[in-house]
Amino acid sequence: MRLILLGPPGAGKGTQATRIVTRFVIPQLSTGEMLREAVASRTRLGLAVKHIIDGGELVPDDVVVAIVADRIDHPDAADGFILDGFPRTVAQAEALDKELASRGIAIDAVLELKVDENALLDRIRCRAEAAANRGEAVRRDDNPEVFKTRLEAYRAQTAPVADCYRSQGLLKTVDGLQPIDAVAEQLAAVLAALPLHRISRENRKLADHE
Ligand code: AMP
Repeated sequence: MRLILLGPPGAGKGTQATRIVTRFVIPQLSTGEMLREAVASRTRLGLAVKHIIDGGELVPDDVVVAIVADRIDHPDAADGFILDGFPRTVAQAEALDKELASRGIAIDAVLELKVDENALLDRIRCRAEAAANRGEAVRRDDNPEVFKTRLEAYRAQTAPVADCYRSQGLLKTVDGLQPIDAVAEQLAAVLAALPLHRISRENRKLADHE
């Protein structure tokens, strides 16, 4: 099962991806997490992108495409994965298509969490407060000003990605404002309804020999 989770920052993508990971035993490939790890370990990549992430802007397409192309070749992603935070531009979506096609695989479904922007601002404030109350570091890009920049980037650059997948018949939209469990249930129902012909490359090879 190869999935994409789309939705504005703060929509609950990370939380829902974790549920799907547990249910379907596929890895969550979060470009935001990978980039934050690179920043924390002060790799060359991390040092180059830190100011972009801190400012709430998007990292260049070629950089994230290269990261994802490398990550999907890891053995744990052989039978599926859920992409969280990628693709975020139409160019990334097109590059992803090419990368997958060259491996003889494709995306099964794109799950979109739809959330009202005002609700997102409230949510992000709560997320920052809750992290601070737990004594955890608050993400630098979770402050309200940077968050607005992230939302603008989503509106201008990522919303059109949903339209691309809608026109391909892959987009499944769920109301992300519902309680976490309700969103998880709806996503599970969407996944349960996916056509069964979408089988992995390994299964297809076996089927070809039968
Ligand atoms: P996230 O955790 O997904 O909200 O990502 C945090 C930050 O990482 C974003 O605001 C961007 O600066 C950067 N980032 C993550 N994924 C991408 C992507 N697919 N394209 C460009 N920048 C990204």
